[in-house]
Amino acid sequence: MATVSLKHVYKVYENTEKGTGSTKPAVSDFCMEIQDKEFIVFVGPSGCGKSTTLRMIAGLEDISDGEIWIDDVIVNEVAPKDRDIAMVFQNYALYPHMTVYDNMAFGLRLRKIPDIKKDKQGNPVLDKDGNQIPIMRKYTKAEIDEKVRAAAKILAIEEYLERKPKALSGGQRQRVALGRTIVRNPKVFLLDEPLSNLDAKLRGTMRSEITKLHDKLGATFIYVTHDQVEAMTMGTRIVVMKDGFVQQIGAPQELYDYPINTFVAGFIGTPQMNFFDGRITPDGKVKFANDQEIKLSERIMALYDKEKIGDGLDITLGIRPGDLKIAEGDSALAVKAKVEVIEALGNETIVYANLDINAEGGIEKTPTSITVAAKMKKNPERRSIINVALDEESIHIFNKETGVSIRK
Ligand code: ADP
Ligand code: MG
Repeated sequence: MATVSLKHVYKVYENTEKGTGSTKPAVSDFCMEIQDKEFIVFVGPSGCGKSTTLRMIAGLEDISDGEIWIDDVIVNEVAPKDRDIAMVFQNYALYPHMTVYDNMAFGLRLRKIPDIKKDKQGNPVLDKDGNQIPIMRKYTKAEIDEKVRAAAKILAIEEYLERKPKALSGGQRQRVALGRTIVRNPKVFLLDEPLSNLDAKLRGTMRSEITKLHDKLGATFIYVTHDQVEAMTMGTRIVVMKDGFVQQIGAPQELYDYPINTFVAGFIGTPQMNFFDGRITPDGKVKFANDQEIKLSERIMALYDKEKIGDGLDITLGIRPGDLKIAEGDSALAVKAKVEVIEALGNETIVYANLDINAEGGIEKTPTSITVAAKMKKNPERRSIINVALDEESIHIFNKETGVSIRK
């Protein structure tokens, strides 16, 4: 059982941001309740504070302000080794001169566990008042062997136990690194970009292995990555971060369907969401910067906050490439675009086109690009003009100035 709570957690590096002289917090006001057995993913661009947050949970980094709780204990002042957590890094260093077995057993051999004093027969020794005598003792050889073999079995590396790391593939080594943490049976697993050093195919395999491992162990996992695909496929909930601030917390589908701002909308999903600046009026008309216009139905308009629209609002309209189609004729929900690049992938075609076409079919100076990803009966010609139809169910409307969604 392990819940982890972060309450208004801040981190300001005393030595300032890696010599830049900035005292901007690396993490600001991080608040979250992580439930037992959740698989939480922290995702965001490099430098947004993911590792710092994870290291504060591990106890490897002081907390500048706020509280971190593991179960019902504030751990701000608790030493890392007493937090009952285990951490796996991107650069897991296995001991090259030790076998896989010894690499996994090493930490256990150093560890002391609480027990009571016993005699040779294994019966408790009592003091003169008849009480048991608490002691700290090392794990026995048999206990260590049991834990190492159980972990090796879970990770399917039993046959490599006598090998040295150099005789293993990258994926097998990563499994040993995981094995070293599993033997300790921690309450919480912290993983910081553990797959970034592996090639794409192996990353895919290890992704599903870690997900299965989480199911098997029934422990709480917190996983850091900059890769939104890893986040979407592994997390039960995802935390999207930017510049030290949490942007949105939610289940993968929730973030995909209802991104709270343009940052989350653009970060989650490939190919990336299209964004267009425009102005919306209460009647549902959206006029884009290039003067093209669409009209949204009343039903769709009802999803948005009328008060925020007022008598007109500058907006950023977002739509995912997969929610666009190349339409046959004109429609109230279509815009014209000129095809620039076509990528036929077999199962779908990705078309990169330009919205800023003038009457002669030329492109304006600063073109607005649009990406369409769809299964097409016939791919369009390069440089042809197409009608791109929006599925109005799938649009996202954000306040242009703040970037925040105006959905109710
Ligand atoms: P991420 O893991 O999301 O890439 P980090 O948590 O490593 O980001 O870093 C967050 C911010 O804190 C960055 O601006 C980084 O430069 C800064 N930072 C990280 N570690 C230190 C440190 N030891 N000293 C000073 N600044 C640091
Ligand atoms: Mg990092």
